[in-house]
Amino acid sequence: MAETAAYLDYQGSTPVDPRVRDVLVEALAHPGNSSAEHHAFGWAAAHRVETARELVAKALGALPEEVIFTSGATEANNLAVLGAALGAPPDRRRVLVSAIEHKSVLEPAQALMAHGFSVEIVPVGVDGLVDPADLSSRMGPDVAVVSVMAVNNEIGTIQPIRDLTAITRRFGSFFHVDATQALCAQSVDVLEWNVDALSLSGHKIYGPGGIGALYVALEAPWRPQPLLYGGAQERGMRAGTVPAALCAALGEACRLIVHEGAEERTFVAAIRDELEAALRGLYPELRVTCAGSPRHPGALHVRFPGLGADDLLSRVQPRIGASSGAACNSGIIGPSHVPLAIGMTPEEAAECVRFSVGRFSSPSDIEIATDVIRAALLRRAA
Ligand code: PMP
Repeated sequence: MAETAAYLDYQGSTPVDPRVRDVLVEALAHPGNSSAEHHAFGWAAAHRVETARELVAKALGALPEEVIFTSGATEANNLAVLGAALGAPPDRRRVLVSAIEHKSVLEPAQALMAHGFSVEIVPVGVDGLVDPADLSSRMGPDVAVVSVMAVNNEIGTIQPIRDLTAITRRFGSFFHVDATQALCAQSVDVLEWNVDALSLSGHKIYGPGGIGALYVALEAPWRPQPLLYGGAQERGMRAGTVPAALCAALGEACRLIVHEGAEERTFVAAIRDELEAALRGLYPELRVTCAGSPRHPGALHVRFPGLGADDLLSRVQPRIGASSGAACNSGIIGPSHVPLAIGMTPEEAAECVRFSVGRFSSPSDIEIATDVIRAALLRRAA
């Protein structure tokens, strides 16, 4: 990529932190299956996995035995939503998910309909937030699972998870939070949030892709049913050889967030605000989505009224990495469900761009973005 390119898609995937890469490369040099009980190589791999589990647990305020390694947040979300619903008592056959969940929550929820569950979509307001009173009105003792994400991956809104669990607790339902975007956005404490399960992903927190985790509280009302069979790894919750090096990398990514997260968020918010000011200078009609709501410090979802987002993004290639919706929605024709859920028309949704900055963003990224977008706008006007 050209040196004059700006990567502004941290919510799509974060760059791997060099310190995480060092841990990964070092761990990859060692052979050994962490389930191999009869030799020292296996013990060393198991030690690596368990050390990583402790670091992940620490970042969540959890116990190590509450952490299950998965291939990423998609698998963790599937395990939480499908697994917890299928493991629920038979008199609980309703599942509630918010309208702006990632597809890896929405689609498993829909799949549950074939198993006799009814699925209800909990709306969000124009502020991008679930209204606790609205959730309360939908609750009942027949609700199996409620899944609401902590931080949205497109518009960056931060949900009042503690207020939501305060409601669902009274009904004894299983509460899952997709916290994939949350670790970079806020401090996370599973006990304070009072959740039963929480998903996270390596490549959203400066770690590698292909690794994630699901926290399942020891005190959850019931255990999710496993989705994979064929091995007793991860306390029977997730069969398959545990990738020790990827786990070690995820552990290091979590360790860095515990130590540096608070300071980093302040720095990231300042860069994000600089980017917003620069874009407004170029396009005064710019609208920041859910500007008044609590938002991810690195997230800047904007609408350029009168400008097609796909057209703009194609004209700034290969110099700006930003997207017009979630990368995971790519290939799906039509606007993302998230702007529609907060009341935008499909035409407005098609004018939205998601910019996101993070740990390695710098003022020079903002300068590059400003120059490149200015040139694209001028070419368009010409
Ligand atoms: N949930 C959210 C909120 C996400 O942003 C993503 C990634 N776009 C996922 C789940 C899926 O994560 P993974 O890529 O690790 O499967």
